[in-house]
Amino acid sequence: MTESFLHYVWQHQLLSGGLTTTDGQPVVVLRAGDLNHDAGPDFFNARLRIGEMEWAGNIEVHVRTSDWKLHRHTQDAAYNNIILHVVYEHDCDIVLQNGEAPLTLELKPWLHPSLIANYDSLMAPTTGSDIPCRHRLGDVPSFVVNSNLERLVVERIEAKSETVRRMLGESHGGWEDTCYWLMARYFGGKVNALAFELLAKATDQRLLARWKDNPQRTEALLMGQAGLLDGFFADDYPRQLQADYVALKTGAGLKPMDGYLWKFHRLRPSNFPTIRISQFARLVSESSNLFSTLLELTDVKQIERLFNQQAADYWKNHYQFDRVAAKSMVKRVGRMQADLLIINAWVPLLFVYGCEHGSQAHKDQAVGLLSQLPPEDNAIIRVWRQAGIEPTNAAESQALLHLYNNYCQNRRCLDCRIGFHILKRV
Ligand code: SF4
Repeated sequence: MTESFLHYVWQHQLLSGGLTTTDGQPVVVLRAGDLNHDAGPDFFNARLRIGEMEWAGNIEVHVRTSDWKLHRHTQDAAYNNIILHVVYEHDCDIVLQNGEAPLTLELKPWLHPSLIANYDSLMAPTTGSDIPCRHRLGDVPSFVVNSNLERLVVERIEAKSETVRRMLGESHGGWEDTCYWLMARYFGGKVNALAFELLAKATDQRLLARWKDNPQRTEALLMGQAGLLDGFFADDYPRQLQADYVALKTGAGLKPMDGYLWKFHRLRPSNFPTIRISQFARLVSESSNLFSTLLELTDVKQIERLFNQQAADYWKNHYQFDRVAAKSMVKRVGRMQADLLIINAWVPLLFVYGCEHGSQAHKDQAVGLLSQLPPEDNAIIRVWRQAGIEPTNAAESQALLHLYNNYCQNRRCLDCRIGFHILKRV
């Protein structure tokens, strides 16, 4: 038995039968009160009828009555005016600071055994990556699952908005800079995210805009700033990029990054930073005001097309400068990667834009974009599929990832609508 479970039981009044205090007075709960997450009594502003009297005030909840002494409430004036002490087990008598005994309600007789069994089943250890309520999910109506997912997808986007807000602060509210930095960061994937962000910050997009529609010069500037054009090259293409960069660098007083920041190890060659930088150069070359361009696009297919850029022809048979690949192929961002850019970068940015401008329409558009994308397929989504929950789009898969990582893994079943439904089944 835990206090947080008792808070939950009291808050939702998951009690059976007519309640009575330990001295036999009937208790009618008119208002359970507001759960207090700070210091002081557990519930504020409760309203009760105890016997013939109506009471309004605060309630303290404990597993055992003796916890009152353990928590030193007798010495604390904040507890002088509680109207009821709610305990799971009444194991001793206590007094308030003024010497009076508080009215006490023992919950143990009023808790249905199924409620405790349901709670225990949710808190029981699981094996591997299993979902604690997996065997109970079949009893949960789809509208409960769906309403939970609708709430959680917004929570997921809000959690992802942290990076957007950080960049928005760094750019002093510059939406174009934030968009450019953010897209760069996600072009880098997990491994080169930071290096890509540093590259974008070291390469002012206003400078890139000067070579709009000249993707090779844009690539020269980005490759050079990335520190990847140092040294001697045998192939014409890197030599040309190098020459372009030297000319641009001198004019603009640029300082390149250290090339060692880029990681190639354990990456699939198509994700090498050389390929990604070339594709990113095509994106910024095609649209120098990326944020404004994206705001205009409401159809997810148009955004996918914009993101699905192709690396320069040289990269058809190279993954690194001067190294010929065994197989020649066009290096496009690809639809899956383009969708990840929408999910991780554009949707949170659009959502924050909606928040900052008080525009529900933009926030809805952000969630709507996710609904137009196919669900992701990864280890966590497969766990949900095995449990019988099949996401039909990326909004649902994003919500399921958030549910698993933030609720199921931390056993926050008391904060979950599915958990509420399972608990109250008797
Ligand atoms: S948090 Fe919700 S979905 Fe996850 S195990 Fe608990 S009740 Fe089930």
